[in-house]
Amino acid sequence: MISVNELRTKLPKDFIEELNTIYTSNYVDKILSGMTDKRYTSIRANTIKTSCADLMRYLKDNNIKFERVLWYDDALIIKNANEKDLMKLEWYIEGKIYMQSLSSMVPPLVLDPKPGECVLDMTAAPGSKTSQMAMMMKNKGRIVANELDKIRCERLKYNVEKQGANIVEVINNRGEFLGKIYPETFDKVLLDAPCSGEGRFVGTIPETYRNWYLKSVNSCKNVQKQLIKSAIMALKPGGTLVYSTCTLNLLEDEEILNYAINNFNVEIMDIDIELNSSVRAKTDNNDIMVYNSSEIVYREEIKKAIRIIPSKLMEGFFVAKLRKK
Ligand code: SAM
Repeated sequence: MISVNELRTKLPKDFIEELNTIYTSNYVDKILSGMTDKRYTSIRANTIKTSCADLMRYLKDNNIKFERVLWYDDALIIKNANEKDLMKLEWYIEGKIYMQSLSSMVPPLVLDPKPGECVLDMTAAPGSKTSQMAMMMKNKGRIVANELDKIRCERLKYNVEKQGANIVEVINNRGEFLGKIYPETFDKVLLDAPCSGEGRFVGTIPETYRNWYLKSVNSCKNVQKQLIKSAIMALKPGGTLVYSTCTLNLLEDEEILNYAINNFNVEIMDIDIELNSSVRAKTDNNDIMVYNSSEIVYREEIKKAIRIIPSKLMEGFFVAKLRKK
C-alpha cells in the first residue's frame, strides 16, 4: 500500500491534472485513496455448472475464506487467496468458478437479460460479462458475442466453452458494423466499451497505468460514439441498452450519453440495483466541477447513470441504462 501523496507522484501527470479539472479536491482524494492498494480478488459462482451454496462449501473444504456480497448472491470476495491460488483449484479448472471484478458484474445485472431473450454483447472479450449473462439467462435464448481483436476473440471462445455457455455465438467483427448487419434484432445490447481504463489504476501495480495517455481518452471517445450508434441500430424498438466503461473522465462517459440522447431515439432509465452507497455516486453530485460548464451542457437525464468510485473492493466504473423508444 502507498500513500495518496506518493500515488500523486507515480500516476501520469496528465491524469492527475485531468482529475483536478473535473472533480473537487475532496473527491479527487477519495478517488486516489481507492487506488493506493491492490483490490481484493472476487469470484462468481458459475450457476450453469454449480450453485453458490455448493461453491461456499467447496471453498470452506479447501480452507479458502470469503465474504458474501450484499447486492449479488452469486459473488464472493476472497480473503486469503490470490488469483494464482484460485487458478489451481479443480473447480476453477472445471469452469465452476469465474474470477471477475465486482464492478464488472454490475452492467449485466443492470441489463438483466432473461431466459429466451436475444442479446448482443458488442465488445465481449475475454467474456466475463458474456458468461455472466448466459448464466442469468439459464443458458436459454441467444447471445451474439462480438470481439474485434482476433487473439482476444480466441480467449472469448475458450472462456465461453469452459463455462458451458452454449447459447453464445462468438463473432469477430468491428462493433461499428453490427447495427447494419443486425438491424433492430436484439431485445438487449451490452456495450462494455473499450476505454482508457482509469478506474482500474492501482498505484502499486504500474502495468495498470503505464499505457495511459491523455490522447487515448479522445480516441476512445470517437470509437465509443460509433459503437453506441451501432448498438442503438441493432436494438429492437423498446429494447434496452447498457453502456459501461471502467474509466473516470466525462468525455468517455457522460459525453457519450449526451451524444446518444441528442442524436437518436433513446432515453436514459433509472438504475435500481442497490450498491453500497460509499462506492456508488450519482453523476449529479456537487463533486463534479465541469458539470454543466459553459463548454458542455449535459442533459438532465444523464444524472440517472451511476459512477462507481474506486476502492479496495471495486474498480472505478460508469454504468448507464438506455431504452430505445
Ligand atoms: N466485456 C468484456 C468482459 O467483461 O470480459 C470486456 C470488454 S473490454 C472493456 C473492450 C473490448 O472491446 C476489448 O476486448 C477490445 O479488444 C474490444 N474492442 C475494441 N474496439 C472494438 C471495436 N471497434 N469493435 C469490437 N470490439 C472492440
